[in-house]
Parts: sequence; structure tokens; C-alpha cells
Amino acid sequence: MTLDELIQRVEVARLRRSEHLIVQIVAVTKYTNDLEVLKRLYEDGQRAFGENRVQDMEEKVNGLSELPIEWHFIGNLQKNKINKLLKLNPFMIQSINSYELAQAINKRANKPIRCLLEINSSKEPTKHGLEPEKAIDTYLQIKENLPNINLQGVMTIGAHTDDEKEIRKSFKLTYEIFDKLKPYGAKICSMGMSGDFEIAIEEGSNMIRVGSALLNSYMEKK
Ligand SMILES: *Cc1c(COP(=O)(O)O)cnc(C)c1O
Repeated sequence: MTLDELIQRVEVARLRRSEHLIVQIVAVTKYTNDLEVLKRLYEDGQRAFGENRVQDMEEKVNGLSELPIEWHFIGNLQKNKINKLLKLNPFMIQSINSYELAQAINKRANKPIRCLLEINSSKEPTKHGLEPEKAIDTYLQIKENLPNINLQGVMTIGAHTDDEKEIRKSFKLTYEIFDKLKPYGAKICSMGMSGDFEIAIEEGSNMIRVGSALLNSYMEKK
């Protein structure tokens, strides 16, 4: 689907939740290294891009440095890649999945970095992210002790299943945590991907990360 088509579907979904809900779209570009594809998305108006590997992000950041793109890092971050990532000046790191990782970034950063706490809301052992039970304590601990981690909210990947109830449950759980963190400044609830962004928005997501469903039409359009 094109960006316009995605925006229309987001619009319908958000009105089912609330007319006051504003949903940001992060275009996940990990499926292509073709900078022309990303430029077409940019020309259609997309400004926030997401990558889950530091190496790939580096190539794209450097290749598109003339464009004012917001780069979101969304993948599992290895400690030995932190310096490389920080040099790219990411707009946001969405995948803080432990206190130790936050500590390591805090130490290496020379200014506050916008971050989200990643929550393993489906409790799938293959997934990264904090256990939901520990999320609030960890969030507050990071906020209190790590001045270079500017926590702005939470991120999750929905349950990996066709069962809509299970998917919805993981989003509800994440939203509950987000809601409890609002008094501490949480503003962003990043949830929903190509297959489940409408469910996520119905459950209160205000930032979706859409890759395949969006990229495909820009890759075909050669
Ligand atoms: C790949 C990825 C996405 C986008 O997934 P699609 O299903 O292709 O839309 C979103 N978030 C994260 C963390 C990802 O790794």
C-alpha cells in the first residue's frame, strides 16, 4: 500500500479509538538497501524511518544525509554497537530492553537521547524486551539514575499469532503500562506493524512501525 493508503487506514482506525488520538507513522526500511525507494517514500511525505541494524542504518543515514529524516533505531542493540549508533545521531532509540543496556548507552552518550522502553508484552521467550511486571520499576529507575536516557514511553511487538485476541491482549497490557507511566512523562506508545497496526491503534497506540506493507508498493513502483 502507498503512504496515502496507509494514512487513510490509520485515520479510520484512530477514529474508532478517539478523535483526539494522533498517530505517528515510522516507515521501517529494513527490507531494502535501495536508497531510491526511500527517496520515493520521502517525496510522498514520510519523514520518520526505522531500522533494526546499526550497519544498515549507517549506510542509509550517510546515503540520505541531505534529507531531514528522523531515524528511529528499533532493533536489538548489542553493546559493542552503541558508539557506532550514537555517531549516527538517531532521533530515537525505541528498543531499550534492559537496565544494563540503558546504563551502557547513558555512559557513552554525551547528551540525552530520546528512548523508549521495549516491553515483551506477549512473553514470548524468543522476543526481546522487559517482562511487563518489571517494566514500571525499570522505567522509573532509568529515569532517576541515567540522565542521558530521555525516556519518552514504551514500545512493543504484538504477539506473533493469527489469534486476534492474543494480539489485542499484548497491546492492552502495554497500554496499561503506558498509562501508569504517563504521570512520569511517558508520551509515546509505539505498537503496531504491517499485520496488526489497526488493532494496536484501537488499543491506544500513537506510533506505528510499518515495514513490509508499505515498502512493497514503493519497491514495485520502479
Ligand atoms: C521489522 C519490524 C517492524 C515492521 O514490521 P512489518 O511487519 O514489516 O511492518 C516493526 N518493528 C520492529 C521492531 C521490526 O523489527
